Amino acid sequence: MSATTDRSKDPIVTTPPARIAMFIDGVWTGGTSGRTEPIIDPATGQSLGEVPIAAREDLDRAVEAASRSFPAWRDTPVDERGAILHRAADLIRERLSRIAWIMTTEEGKLLSQSTAEVIRVAKGIDWDAEDARRLYGRIIPVDHDTEMSVIHQPVGPVAAFTPWNFPAASPMRKLGGALSAGCTIVLKASEETPGTACALVQCFEEAGVPAGVINLVFGVPAEVSQHLITSPAIRMVAFTGSIPVGKRLAQLAGEHMKPSIMELGGHAPVVICRDADPERAGKAVAAAKYVNAGQVCTSPSRIYAHADIYDAFLDSYSGESRSLRVGNGLDESSQMGPMANTRRLAAMDELLEDAQERGTSVICGGSRIDQPGFFYEPTVLTEVPTEARIMREEPFGPVSAVLRFDDLNDALAAANSLPYGLAAYGFTGSADTADVLKRGLEAGIISINHCGGSVPEAPSGGVKDSGWGREGGSEGLDGYLITKRISHKLR
Ligand code: NAD
Repeated sequence: MSATTDRSKDPIVTTPPARIAMFIDGVWTGGTSGRTEPIIDPATGQSLGEVPIAAREDLDRAVEAASRSFPAWRDTPVDERGAILHRAADLIRERLSRIAWIMTTEEGKLLSQSTAEVIRVAKGIDWDAEDARRLYGRIIPVDHDTEMSVIHQPVGPVAAFTPWNFPAASPMRKLGGALSAGCTIVLKASEETPGTACALVQCFEEAGVPAGVINLVFGVPAEVSQHLITSPAIRMVAFTGSIPVGKRLAQLAGEHMKPSIMELGGHAPVVICRDADPERAGKAVAAAKYVNAGQVCTSPSRIYAHADIYDAFLDSYSGESRSLRVGNGLDESSQMGPMANTRRLAAMDELLEDAQERGTSVICGGSRIDQPGFFYEPTVLTEVPTEARIMREEPFGPVSAVLRFDDLNDALAAANSLPYGLAAYGFTGSADTADVLKRGLEAGIISINHCGGSVPEAPSGGVKDSGWGREGGSEGLDGYLITKRISHKLR
């Protein structure tokens, strides 16, 4: 474990405490229920404060505000909307260290990772604001006296739900997409990381987003989603989170004929071919694996290495894993932080117990770290039978399995054998093999010879059970728009 850093320079110590409240119709409020839940620092297990829990009346006020403010926001010129969003992005950049600090204390990830996330958030908002200027329609030549055209318009008030693992990036995807397209939003951010969401929304408020356009609520997740999705004024649903919850919300949205974006989990395979550099691959996969203690939907988790380079890869990968310094994300010497909550620790225990009962070898790690906070060891497993739960269930933690293959077709079949399809990775020295991997891996996000992260310029999203719709890239606003065909008889 790493040494404790001097806290006297921490931005949280030198600036006022984060405001933890709901933001409804332009007003920060504790809500009408008086109920709260504790916010826990995963690096210490100590309480950081309380988050308010919305009552139905609070949700109704949020939906009413989003509905009332929609026509004026929709009709605001795109460059005026864009200017407000760019100002919000600038404020986020100005408050970078403070927002990153809040994120690390609430969620546990390394301060360097929180900082990188906040920078990505500002870039993402800028991208969405600019992309809204290019929501072109088209004229279709059908008949000399009839003009046939296609236009895109904002779908209406959006209900959005974001998880704790990307406390800033996930809300940004929803806020940036909805607001740029001209939609208003009721966002239920995670109750486990509310300070980050509040800090972001405060930037939008100060940038000049009119009252009612953004509403931020917290509550009992199942109650909030049931209420918001079935509210007639809500026209679209955007969710990031687990596959079981996503399926429930997609079903609810479907019953009410509301379109949705579903950014769900995965169980990302990595195929390391015979002609890959095993040492380089080991370093690259380890660098990606332990980001946010493995609690990333694109985290590499099932690694298939060709028999000829298997030992060299395993040496490199397990060596990197074993040498990681695990500690408080605020400490500069830490290389991996804690898990975000006790649910994830319990999930790691269950997956490891099941795998070991089935004869799996634990190459390194395999246990909780005995100290306050929610720390788990970087863990590499081999000889894992396909029936083991870890081979079928998304680990969402610092645990992965390394398996051996002889034939690339078998590796591809194994990689594609699960119902998930979010991210997949391949390592090879051959352009032909790279092409086979790019086309053959069933996933919405493919990286070859590295484990690429998301950028505002390119779309992210899954196939199969990992969801539908895309966030980012020139596809990023599609989910927030309706398409109209217009036929105009000219003569
Ligand atoms: P969970 O399924 O209980 O919750 C996931 C997220 O959805 C949380 O933010 C939670 O507040 C929210 N949620 C839960 N029930 C909801 C409901 N009925 N309506 C609206 N929102 C609801 O799981 P968890 O223990 O918090 O997280 C672990 C699992 O979540 C992992 O297995 C992982 O697959 C998944 N996850 C995926 C992503 C992603 O980016 N795709 C992000 C976070 C978590």
